[in-house]
Amino acid sequence: MILGGTTEATALGNAVHAAGLQALMSLAGRVERPARQPIRRRIGGFGGVSGLVDYLRTEQITHVIDATHPFAAQMSRNAIAACAEADVRLVAFTRPPWVAKAGDRWQRVSDIAAAVAALDRPVCRVMLAVGRMHLKTFAPNPQHFYLLRLVDTPKTPPVFPNQHVLVSRGPFTAAADQALMEEFAIDLVVSKNSGGAGAYAKVAAARVLSLPVVMIDRPALPVRAEVFSVGDVLDWVHGATERGV
Ligand code: NAP
Repeated sequence: MILGGTTEATALGNAVHAAGLQALMSLAGRVERPARQPIRRRIGGFGGVSGLVDYLRTEQITHVIDATHPFAAQMSRNAIAACAEADVRLVAFTRPPWVAKAGDRWQRVSDIAAAVAALDRPVCRVMLAVGRMHLKTFAPNPQHFYLLRLVDTPKTPPVFPNQHVLVSRGPFTAAADQALMEEFAIDLVVSKNSGGAGAYAKVAAARVLSLPVVMIDRPALPVRAEVFSVGDVLDWVHGATERGV
């Protein structure tokens, strides 16, 4: 079973299908139109660790690949606990965090709350790329203009008095993000340190424009086995199978 919701998970779904493995993609159900992929899909939470343990046992899952977003920490913690309890093999298919390069003007903060605190400053024009779920957390700083990029059109009223919503799921290019930042006269970018290629465009664009970036560090997780490519996931599955586990 792949715990998905990322571009990487979708690529992995295609690869395990092509490899002829019997596989299942689990999604939280947060987006309206999940990316198409060829393997069986289930949608919605499991009901915490105990629900996931039950699910693993009922479905006779032998391998779990946690390909969730690095900020989906609750799901990842639950997977570690449930796989240990149900004696199911677990690997995380993740991406190394981005590292600041020459020209980057990052203010690293430890979590979303610290990013909100960093925006307690005089009015400016912010590209807030943190996903729909966390927007309300930024409500204490309504003085800014916020450029929001979301996967789905929001159904709820605007969170900020002065906001503009772009609906797009990426992946994005640095050139297009640079043009966007210029069009909206952005002077500050807020980003999660997601790692990977698709979301990096805004970070690269901010560097070109010499814009400051409030970069939110990833939540800490317990130690777990990690791989960083589709090929390594397949090797892990095959290796484990060959060893008879
Ligand atoms: P989260 O806070 O770690 O998870 C909250 C709860 O949502 C989990 O305890 C679980 O519910 C359910 N859940 C999460 N991922 C699931 C999955 N793949 N399959 C089934 N249930 C899942 O997660 P989140 O940050 O809300 O992210 C939700 C989804 O969006 C994930 O699939 C993630 O990969 C994707 N995503 C997240 C971000 C981000 O920045 N957080 C960005 C891009 C994509 P139960 O406890 O009931 O099992």
